[in-house]
Amino acid sequence: MLPVIALVGRPNVGKSTLFNRLTKSRDALVADLPGLTRDRKYGEGQLGEDQNYIVIDTGGITGDEQGIDYEMAKQSLQAIDEADIVLFLVDGRAGLNPADEVIANYLRKTSKPCHLVVNKTDGLNPDVVIGDFFSIGLGHPLAIAAAHGRGVTSLIEYVLEEL
Ligand code: GDP
Ligand code: MG
Repeated sequence: MLPVIALVGRPNVGKSTLFNRLTKSRDALVADLPGLTRDRKYGEGQLGEDQNYIVIDTGGITGDEQGIDYEMAKQSLQAIDEADIVLFLVDGRAGLNPADEVIANYLRKTSKPCHLVVNKTDGLNPDVVIGDFFSIGLGHPLAIAAAHGRGVTSLIEYVLEEL
């Protein structure tokens, strides 16, 4: 079985941008992956020559879960259940948001390996930007710029190694 990485976070933090960069439109053969449903978006990523993994993109968690937000959140929670590794994305430009705290509270209760990823750090000093996010209490934040690819390969190397 390939390791499964779920991308979670509130809408607009860059989950789909990261998903597209990691999978480069390689669609996962979900039929071959027992236990995974088609409700969420699956893709296959590759690190180096031969280290493949599955990535799950999710709609997002807004922290105000009614109607469509409720459905998105439900999907995200299911993606967390299916994952071996959870990447919790936050927006380094927007700073800490109340919805981030809602997600963090949930993640703290799961036993899944979880990494806090600060996106959109392009043009910013990553060491300064991550400073905002230590207070979430999910360890050392990892800075990336998904749209530009900065930090993305080392992020995946790091999280797969920790597995
Ligand atoms: P999602 O809702 O979490 O899936 O977020 P999207 O991937 O749709 O991205 C939301 C917005 O953030 C889009 O306008 C992206 O172009 C932008 N975005 C994503 N990653 C980056 C990044 O690394 N830097 C900057 N500056 N913008 C980004
Ligand atoms: Mg998206």
